[in-house]
Formats: sequence, C-alpha cells, structure tokens
Amino acid sequence: MTREADPRAVHWLFGDQLGPHFIDPARGGPHRDAPLLMIESRSVFRRRRFHRAKAHLVLSAMRHRAAELGDRVRYVRADTYRQGLEEAVGDAEVTVHHPTSRAAHAFVHALPSVRVLPARGFLVTHDEFRTWADGRGTKQLRQEDFYRWVRRTHDLLMEGDSPAGGRWNLDHDNRQPPPRGATGLGLPAPYRPRESDIDDEVRADLDRWSRDGDVEFVGDDGPRGFPATRREALAALRRFVEHRLATFGAHEDAVLAGDATMSHSLLSTSLNLGLLDPAECVERAEARWRSGGVPLNSAEGFVRQVAGWREFVWHLYWYFGTDYRTSNALRHHEPLPDWFTDLSPEGTEANCLSRTLEHVRATGWTHHIPRLMILGSFALQRGWEPRAVTDWFHRSFVDGYDWVMVPNVVGMSQYADGGRMTTKPYTSAGAYIDRMSDLCGPCRYKPSVRVGEDACPFTAGYWNFLHRHRERFEHNVRMVRAVRGLDRLRDLDALLEQERDRAD
Ligand code: SF4
Repeated sequence: MTREADPRAVHWLFGDQLGPHFIDPARGGPHRDAPLLMIESRSVFRRRRFHRAKAHLVLSAMRHRAAELGDRVRYVRADTYRQGLEEAVGDAEVTVHHPTSRAAHAFVHALPSVRVLPARGFLVTHDEFRTWADGRGTKQLRQEDFYRWVRRTHDLLMEGDSPAGGRWNLDHDNRQPPPRGATGLGLPAPYRPRESDIDDEVRADLDRWSRDGDVEFVGDDGPRGFPATRREALAALRRFVEHRLATFGAHEDAVLAGDATMSHSLLSTSLNLGLLDPAECVERAEARWRSGGVPLNSAEGFVRQVAGWREFVWHLYWYFGTDYRTSNALRHHEPLPDWFTDLSPEGTEANCLSRTLEHVRATGWTHHIPRLMILGSFALQRGWEPRAVTDWFHRSFVDGYDWVMVPNVVGMSQYADGGRMTTKPYTSAGAYIDRMSDLCGPCRYKPSVRVGEDACPFTAGYWNFLHRHRERFEHNVRMVRAVRGLDRLRDLDALLEQERDRAD
C-alpha cells in the first residue's frame, strides 16, 4: 500500500526536476496542496569551472519555474543546500523525488526529516532495471538488449510482438556520411528561445559572481540557446518532430563544419532539466511516423537515443555502484592540457578538434559524434585520466550531469571500465572522420598520413593506442583485425617515436 502524501510536508524540487511530472500526485508526487521549495546553492557552481552557458541555463530554468509556481514555492538562495533547507523548513518533514546524482542522493538520505520519493523523468524504474539486469550478470549488459526490452515492455514502434518494419536495429540506414559537397542539410533551424528579464537578471548575477572571484566559468554566455521553460521545451519538441526529425536518421552520425546542429533534436537539455518527459518525446516521434510524416529509420534512431541510450546510461550509473566512476582499466594517467580545459581552439592545429572546441566554447554543445569520435577519441588515444575527462565533459556541456557523464565517458568513451558497457573502445584513425565529415579537407594534416609533418594526430594516435594496448585487445573479437593491422605497418617504429616526441 502506498503511503498517502502529507499535504503539509514541503516538497523540494531540485534544479533538474522542473516539469509537471515532478509535482503530479497521480504519479507518486507530493500532495496537490503541498508547499514547494527550491534552493539555489552557490556552492554547486564553486565545485567545478562550469561552462557559463550551462550555469545560465540552469539558473534561468530554475528561476522561470519559480516564477510560474508563484506563491506555492519558496525560492531560497543559499550557500549550500543544507543552509537553504535549514532556512526554509528547519527540521520539518520534507519530501523530494530521488535526486539524479550520487552525492545529492546520499545527502538527502542522510537527512532525518527528508522522505525520498521514487525517481521521475525516466521510462524504466530502478526496480524494473534491476530485475532485467540481475538476470544477465554485469558483464553482459548491452544497450541493444536493453533497448529491445524497453521497446517491447513500453510498446514502442512495435507491430504485435515484432519490431515495426521487421528489424530492431536500423543503424545500417543511419550511418550515412554527409551529402557530398553540401555545407549543411538545409533544414529549418532548430527552435531557439527568446530571452526574458529573468535571463538579464541571471547574467548580471553571474557577472557579479565572476567579478567577486567567487565562481569561475569557462566558455561564452551568448544568447540562451536552449529552453528554460516547459512552454519553450514543448515548442522545441514540436519543431523537431514536425520539421527536423524526417532527416535525423540518415545523417545522425555525420558532421558538417557549416551545420553544427544537422538534424539533431537538441532536446537533451530539456529532458535533463526535467522540462520534458521522455515518454512524450518518443510517443510524438512514433505518432509522426505512424501518420506517414517521417521514415521509420528516423523515428527509430530518435527512439533509440531516448528510450535506449538515455535510459541505459541512467540505470548503469546506479547499477554499477559508487566505485565505477574511478575505473581506469587502461591505466591512463595523463593530465588534460590547458588549451583543452580552457576550450581554446587555438591550442591545436587539428581542424576537427579545433572546430569542435570552438563550437563547445560558443554554445556548450555538440552532437554525439564530435563528442565521441573527436573529443573523446583524442582523449583516449592520448591516455588522459578518465576521471578528469569525465569531469571536463560534465562541466563543459549544457546537458552534462553526473549521471549522464560517468557511464558515457568512463564506459563508452574512455573504455575505462574494461568493457562492462561496450564491446570495444570507440576510437578511430582520421579516415573515419574524413568519411563522416568535411573537416579534413581544410586541415593542415592529411588523414591518410601516419608519420611526418602531415601526419594526422588521429591516425598516428590510433595506431599508437593499439600498440600500447595490444595485449588487451588482441583477444577482443571486435578488435583483433585492427590489432593485427599493426603487423603490416612498416613505419611503426617511426610512428611510435613520433608519438613519444609529440607527448613530451
Ligand atoms: Fe582531424 Fe586528421 Fe582530419 Fe585533420 S586530417 S581534420 S586532424 S582527422
């Protein structure tokens, strides 16, 4: 029997619990008359040097939500969450939905007067995931299996017991390079919000914090590019589904220098702030396909990202335990260079890396391929410390949260978990970047060259990485062919010496 919510208990909303599904009594939320509390904690921004656009977005979204909720919410600005709670409620009872970080989860559980309600904002509950995963053993948790199970159990893109179109996985249709000679996909631009007085106030506060030397930021705080309210988030979802989803599938892995957003939804910030519920996103994409508005591979690619990857990453964050974040199976310990942590595109002559950093500095966002196959792959090849790489992604991206970045970076991008999450490391030589982008043409390096002045850092770095970890990967069925390729390199010694010199 579920315990009935106490109408007098204050319900605390974290800054990523901003949508209506976090205060819905019909979905296990607080009593409809429960007073609400929001705490803006300055110490959160002191802990890391966040991208300023991210700090702006989070504060703007929280303050917009508080303005919408009016007298029902008490909005406290405090140095820490503990101080904010003491000021607002003393030791009275408080309810809160399961927070999204381990640190916040431990904090609320240690408070005597806080009752933690189940997590919201995901399709699959913790108990459902544990039941699914426990039957498999932690070594065999694969996103593809999980995704098919979610499709079945949530009846997403299904025709009876079979996947719509007869295939679960349409990745083969969805890995096309960019259209030849094109500088962009020529689509209607993604939704961009209009700023309000609240944004002006946030910008003034951030200026003051920086001036006082209290908080340090990185990156540009240009016009806010992502939704801060439910209304804006719904407009962004509508625009994506109606105007941009149709071409999402085919080119979801392609990169064009002149079209940073391509056909991507840019909905991750809205989902991760809790402004959108994943169920409504995938249902709208499916409805659009069923009405004939978009091809199946596009709808499936989007559903896979939201109902597959996003859910999988959320649950692995909790399922793999507290030590997962410090995994370092490849024993990588190199520090990140300053130009990378400072988001300085001038720090590298590699065009792909420079252009990607430039875009991250300007917006705090790039789509998944620059993240994985340019930024993450470079870090992996250079042997950078995975925990520091995870922290960098967390603070530099507008949609980065602890639960997002720990599995995505430790597991997927840096292979620091030794293969618990993926079957092989995600890294490649320059040929992949050349095939999937238009970035190599103007570059001073050549993707096919391994050694010498024109040697592509990704191509040389790839072979150097394989050489360093040969013993580990020569027994991996997905890597064995690549590792054997080392034996055909007549210039391997020169390449290794070159990479040693580059590292010094
Ligand atoms: Fe990047 Fe190499 Fe291509 Fe230059 S040649 S853009 S460094 S992959």
